[in-house]
Amino acid sequence: MTDHLYAQRRAKERGGHYMHCPKCGSGKISLGLVNDLLRAVDMNGEIFEAKFQVPVWCCSACKLRWQGQEAQAAKEATYQHALAQRTPGRIAA
Ligand SMILES: [Zn+2]
Repeated sequence: MTDHLYAQRRAKERGGHYMHCPKCGSGKISLGLVNDLLRAVDMNGEIFEAKFQVPVWCCSACKLRWQGQEAQAAKEATYQHALAQRTPGRIAA
């Protein structure tokens, strides 16, 4: 029951991510990039979209696909980059 949390904590301690599949526990996992579309709202309340590539882990044993903290980081970076482009030369103090 707590195996999942334990693996998560261990991965954190190593400063890395899951090195095993969270579903079947297989070590045969690989990190790939998948095209994704970020939908967000800018400072003016306008919805915008930004294409980006999100890192996705894939288990070759059970075919599970999941996103880790890398995906969240990529999303955040894309969002910040897109915001900066939408407000050129205007940096809020
Ligand atoms: Zn698996």
